[in-house]
Amino acid sequence: MQKMSKRLWDIGRMAWDRLILTGAPPTPENYALWYHATGGTVAGLPEAMAELASAGMLGQTAALEQMQTRFFPEGIKPTPTAPEAPPEPAPEAKPTEARPSNLSIVYRVSEDAGDIMDAAAQVLSQADRAHSDYAETLAGLQPTRIDTPTSLKTAIRLLTEETDKVISENTGLRAQLEGLSDRMRALREELTATQSELGRTQANLSEARIAADTDALTNLPNRRRFEQDLSALIRSANGKFCLVLADIDFFKNFNDQHGHVMGDQVLRLVAQGLARRVEKLGRAYRFGGEEFALLIRDIELPKVFDLCEAIRRDVATREVVNRTTAQPLGRITLSAGLTAAVAGETGDSIIGRADRALYAAKNQGRNRVIVDPPLA
Ligand code: GH3
Ligand code: MG
Ligand code: MG
Repeated sequence: MQKMSKRLWDIGRMAWDRLILTGAPPTPENYALWYHATGGTVAGLPEAMAELASAGMLGQTAALEQMQTRFFPEGIKPTPTAPEAPPEPAPEAKPTEARPSNLSIVYRVSEDAGDIMDAAAQVLSQADRAHSDYAETLAGLQPTRIDTPTSLKTAIRLLTEETDKVISENTGLRAQLEGLSDRMRALREELTATQSELGRTQANLSEARIAADTDALTNLPNRRRFEQDLSALIRSANGKFCLVLADIDFFKNFNDQHGHVMGDQVLRLVAQGLARRVEKLGRAYRFGGEEFALLIRDIELPKVFDLCEAIRRDVATREVVNRTTAQPLGRITLSAGLTAAVAGETGDSIIGRADRALYAAKNQGRNRVIVDPPLA
């Protein structure tokens, strides 16, 4: 009695899996077709479904309706062998947990799963018992239906159940089928491994991207990043931003007097000060050597000029001290050229104007900010 209930439960679940995998609408009629085809309760139906499978028509409503009229001319009747006891809950019937998936991986793995199913179908068709209907059902599964981890899992379960049944009845085929089930296991492991590897690769990629955009000495975004941000601003801000080019005065002298290592530390200090001052309005970049660029999302030139002046004073009023020896190293100063972008102009044109303003600041004695166009 218990055994009979279990068998009915198996047939019902297998019929459901098959119906879902074909992509046909899960109507009571279609389910009944699969139920009777799987259970072998209607003569000729398993063979007819196998023919539909090999024609790739299992998902077509018209074809399924034809089968209903042919095998159930008086409509679908209750099955003659109704279950006598409520079926035991099947462990696999629990809802499968939805895992975050990467569709392209699932597609690739389903291709592999498709290959394995083809191979399994071939082996099953050699079985001495009449398993050919199942085999062709497997072969006829539309690969496009296996496009989510859940449907792939269902396909794998269906294949495993089929395989287990044949293994128990056909000892001769055992080795071949066990080989297939090894491949299936490897496939599942590959799916897991590929997913975690993909996660790692993405993390490495974003690290590499940050490194490629960052200046190693000052930790500021570099010239490459500056060019990208400038192009983006030109596209999106329609001329509503300012550019500042700032250059440390007589820095060669500082290096000559105190050494390159001290010079590097000064560059770091200036970079940190710039980044802190502009963080709310824009961004500071290392433009190259002892030159920095600021992109400011503000178009009120007097306001941006005040910001530049504050930065210039910050640098000029601080005494540089060698931290290890406490030796004072004097003061350093900055010169800067500031300009507002004009709608429609190129990056080279904006940079050219800021550079000319910086050159003017140097010519007029350094330690100053020059604005182009000049403020009223
Ligand atoms: P000016 O006021 O005309 O800008 O004079 P300057 O000496 O700053 O300009 P110049 O172009 O003659 O020299 C730039 C100096 O900046 C020379 C170079 O050693 C120094 N420099 C550039 N990059 C670095 C760096 O990464 N580290 C250090 N320590 N010095 C650097
Ligand atoms: Mg300089
Ligand atoms: Mg320079």
